Amino acid sequence: MRPEVLYPLFAEARALPGVGPRVAKLIERLAGQRVVDLLWHLPAGIVDRRYRPAVAAARAGAVATVTVLVRAHQPPSSSRYPYKVLCSDPSGVLTLVFFHPRADYLSRALPVGAECVVSGRIERFGADVQMAHPDYIVPLDQRHTLPEIEPVYPLTAGLTPRGLGKIIRAALDRAPDLPEWQDPAFVTRNAWQPWRSALMAVHAPDGEAALLPLAPARSRLAYDELLANQLALALVRRRQRHAAGRAIRADGVSAARALNAVGFALTESQRRAVAEITADMAAETRMLRLLQGDVGSGKTVVALLAMLTAVESGVQAALMAPTEILARQHLATIGPLAAAAGVRAALLTGREKGKNRSAILDALGTGDIGIVVGTHALFQSDVAFADLALVVFDEQHRFGVHQRLDLASKGRAVDILVMTATPIPRTLMMTAYGDMDVSKLLEKPPGRRPVDTRVVPADRLDDVVAAVGRSLDAGARAYWICPLVEESDVVDVSAAEERFRELRARFGARVGLVHGRLKGPDKDRAMADFAGGEVDLLVATTVVEVGVDVPAATVMVIEHAERFGLAQLHQLRGRIGRGEAASTCLLVYAPPLGEAARARLAIMRETEDGFRIAEEDLRLRGAGELLGTRQSGMPSFRLADLDSHAELLVAARDDARLILNRDPELASERGRALRTLLYLFERDVAVRYLRSG
Ligand code: ADP
Ligand code: MG
Repeated sequence: MRPEVLYPLFAEARALPGVGPRVAKLIERLAGQRVVDLLWHLPAGIVDRRYRPAVAAARAGAVATVTVLVRAHQPPSSSRYPYKVLCSDPSGVLTLVFFHPRADYLSRALPVGAECVVSGRIERFGADVQMAHPDYIVPLDQRHTLPEIEPVYPLTAGLTPRGLGKIIRAALDRAPDLPEWQDPAFVTRNAWQPWRSALMAVHAPDGEAALLPLAPARSRLAYDELLANQLALALVRRRQRHAAGRAIRADGVSAARALNAVGFALTESQRRAVAEITADMAAETRMLRLLQGDVGSGKTVVALLAMLTAVESGVQAALMAPTEILARQHLATIGPLAAAAGVRAALLTGREKGKNRSAILDALGTGDIGIVVGTHALFQSDVAFADLALVVFDEQHRFGVHQRLDLASKGRAVDILVMTATPIPRTLMMTAYGDMDVSKLLEKPPGRRPVDTRVVPADRLDDVVAAVGRSLDAGARAYWICPLVEESDVVDVSAAEERFRELRARFGARVGLVHGRLKGPDKDRAMADFAGGEVDLLVATTVVEVGVDVPAATVMVIEHAERFGLAQLHQLRGRIGRGEAASTCLLVYAPPLGEAARARLAIMRETEDGFRIAEEDLRLRGAGELLGTRQSGMPSFRLADLDSHAELLVAARDDARLILNRDPELASERGRALRTLLYLFERDVAVRYLRSG
């Protein structure tokens, strides 16, 4: 239950004065619909009103606060002209300019003969000094009400800066004093204020420096959020560790048979990963392990061996792929090897329908099928297992945490293995998983040759086509990747279709086409033709980005390579260089290259090391943007910014660990305050894992 002290913050913003239905909608779009969302809506700038020049000296363009005597009103001769109020100080004349002023407002606010303080932007026209629509007009004896520095909030059309400022102040008025949840020594060492004071300070910046992410008040709030995140993860993790798992072990007969059939020996990393995974499975606790390995490092076979171990011990395993193509390919790889071990593997995607589907569901229900490979279709409610005990997620960054839990709920005490080729930078991994166990595949299978990567301007496309033609004639198989146009797969598809027609006109029937809009069977056929060699030039959109494995392919052309992100280029290039033959990747770009695009292409030419590329990617784009993309499994932060607060994140992780060591049930006084923190940042799912949640 949310602590009562937080109720005012989780009330609807509509409850605040000045927030009617119209404004409520705007606020919701801007920040969120509750009071707390407004607290997290931080100023992006300031207006500094401390500049108090004499009128004659006021700089054009500057925001100035001046004390003047009101001299005369000059109503316009026609409504097309502005209303002017002439004022002066001993140095000169300031003309206040108003378009369409409300009747008699001006005579009340600026009575002739009165001294006033006005604040706003100075404009100069020759010798004339003007201020149009001052932000503030106050009588001299009220000048203390004029703010010296005002926060400037990100806005949305329909809200005024002043209106929003008022609403946020009303939200701040509701912020209660909360008990300190941070370690007092840590707070002192950082010269941090208590939560409420820090919140007030963040909304009342006393200069530009207070806006920086590392300003003390901002750091404090960011740390609060990071600690909530890390504490919640630690609780979930602990629960998973302690949750009654099941000891799944086997003699390894099935795995040995499959390895026999596979025809290669495992790499050292693969062997170690298999050992770590099977040890986790054999333990009485639940497994939550990440298998991280660069593209082509051979994760699939590791997953297969884990799944065979599960089946041999009498339970079932599921492998979840992000796309239909990938699910089918996995089954094509895994099916025969599983069969060699005497295990039945089957496919379940959105395309299995009718009788076929019910037959698969029956066999899953009876346990006839030991391994099922599928897509999101595995989540459907009528999919039931005899005894599901291991789930493997491939390319996990496309799945959210909820989906992981959904699938796990189809079994009892399910062990989870997530595989990713996208080397997730450490900071991001920590925010998403906390201290998840990790196995890494450090080396690639032997015999791989480096990919020769070249960068070619688009005006040499004819040369590229000719070079591809020579490779094809020499027996190579090639991918031709078409540009990504503004996230719209419709446009992608038409670009790919056009390139396909051109290449087909040149090379004939050996050219195939695959893209996301093709019907399932057509996609399969295109991939199968390419894998089988009936087609040796495959024009594709980025559907081949993830996981596709055709080791015979040795050439890749990527058009408009400058439009792709580094991670994506790396994924794409990872489709080649998988066999024994030398591979070539041609990155075709349309000049002129921007600075970032130039850097990306240079890195691609320089290295194939996925970890190095991920780091460069992070450096070039910033964690914020990485988080903002489709990495749906990643949490998003309101106050913390991983580019700036990476060190705080590490501290928060250690802190969370320490806290739970000392006070496992968060029962101490600080522990109870930490529960409030979890609720404040809506990480309260984790509170359920405490004994007296
Ligand atoms: P990824 O890690 O990108 O998913 P895959 O599992 O698709 O990589 O493996 C890439 C290719 O390497 C596949 O063709 C696979 O058969 C092959 N492979 C995997 N492990 C080995 C190994 N130890 N020795 C030789 N080839 C291997
Ligand atoms: Mg893979």
